[in-house]
Amino acid sequence: MALKLFNTLTRSVQEFAPLDPTGKTVGMYCCGPTVYDFAHIGNWRTFVFADLVRRSLEFSGYSVRHVMNITDVEDKIIKGVRENKTTLREFTAKFETAFLDDLKALNCQTPHVIPRATEYIAEIISLIEKLVARGIAYKAADGSVYFSITKYQGCGCNYGQLLKLNFDEMRAGERVSSDEYEKESVADFALWKARVPGDGDVFWPSPFGEGRPGWHIECSAMSMKVLGESFDLHLGGEDLKFPHHEDEIAQSEGATGKPFVKYWMHGAFLLVEGKKMSKSLGNYFTLRDLLAKGFAAREVRYLLLTAYYRETFNFTLDGLAGAKSALARIDECVSKLREVGRDALPRVQADQHVSPTSLVEQFSAAISEDLNISAAWGAVFEWVRETNTKLANNSLSATAAAANLAAWEKVDSVLGIGVKTETEVPPEILALAEARTAAKQAKDFKKSDAIRDELKAKGWVIEDTPKGIKLKKL
Ligand code: AMP
Ligand code: ZN
Repeated sequence: MALKLFNTLTRSVQEFAPLDPTGKTVGMYCCGPTVYDFAHIGNWRTFVFADLVRRSLEFSGYSVRHVMNITDVEDKIIKGVRENKTTLREFTAKFETAFLDDLKALNCQTPHVIPRATEYIAEIISLIEKLVARGIAYKAADGSVYFSITKYQGCGCNYGQLLKLNFDEMRAGERVSSDEYEKESVADFALWKARVPGDGDVFWPSPFGEGRPGWHIECSAMSMKVLGESFDLHLGGEDLKFPHHEDEIAQSEGATGKPFVKYWMHGAFLLVEGKKMSKSLGNYFTLRDLLAKGFAAREVRYLLLTAYYRETFNFTLDGLAGAKSALARIDECVSKLREVGRDALPRVQADQHVSPTSLVEQFSAAISEDLNISAAWGAVFEWVRETNTKLANNSLSATAAAANLAAWEKVDSVLGIGVKTETEVPPEILALAEARTAAKQAKDFKKSDAIRDELKAKGWVIEDTPKGIKLKKL
């Protein structure tokens, strides 16, 4: 089934067709974290969305080369280095490690290449040199090098590809030096920022003088170095459309004269309890905050994946509690399928002739429609309901159970929520369970019931199955 995705560049849902003439490989670049703090749950919405895109492409048969940079030098980082009286590397390393740990905890596939901006300074400088040589960039009186929007337009290039900009509001000759600015201030932006005392030790030599790169040029240089001057897919949160991505297009196309990226995808923002996240409102959560509250990373991933990526999502702690019970339903079903179908699974997986189950078909149809995740979850929960009924009637053969299990694993290769691993049973609980079995065998039902109640009080339920007892954590 052809994968259709919404392309911000064309403002339409398009059938995905990579640049690769063989139609097999896809180059995908996702703007990575700015490592000046721990990533918050809003950031994670975007990274989980990027992971969904990668997994959906792989599910559709593409071989994806996934690149996600680490922004380890920009304005907020310099401020952090200064305030903490530390070095750039020491300051960013802590947040970079935390980010990569959280990325794993959320079961996001590790990108194939994770370039750090500070390791691409030579590429950044040579890209700026190209722009200067083409007359599109210039050195200003403050010693910094700026991108000239007027000169770029003069070369027949289009500034404002991802969103409509009102150039009548532009004031000629105006320029911005900070990395972040609003679209009301469309202006020449900094490519190379001349060293100032506040930068401390953070500067590099360059043909334009000592200084450091602007944030936007970093992504142009890294993405083109790793994926080539034109590549398939570029992603980020919706706030990056302007100025970051617009500037990336301008710098890249201005330097190469070639189309930079074929498909642009943007994830909508996450709100918390209906509001913008902010530390002062107390609704600012990192993944670590949520884990400390007793939630599991897969519950967070599940919740973030319940919303369609182009719609704002309202994150609530109640929603996260709901995620726990939704996942428990899936876990229970899959664990029963394992019991019934485990032995037949290798045979079913090896059999090329097993036709895809309706779960895979429906899921795949949903994902193909611009990642219609509500329909995808709809297919999953309908399957859980039907499968539970069949399991309850004992009407699933081992082969059918294995086929369902294989279908779930296929679907989960996109969702990536996995299945809860069996909780380890503490020896004390095991001993109680064995004592209960012994009491039952001795027909001392009063004692066996009392032990069952004791187990319950300790948070465990005991179930008698044809294959013996089963202990489950409440
Ligand atoms: P940053 O580390 O600030 O560069 O942001 C990393 C990614 O998180 C970017 O793609 C942002 O667009 C995205 N992002 C930031 N805040 C939110 C939010 N509240 N909801 C969704 N994505 C966000
Ligand atoms: Zn970027």
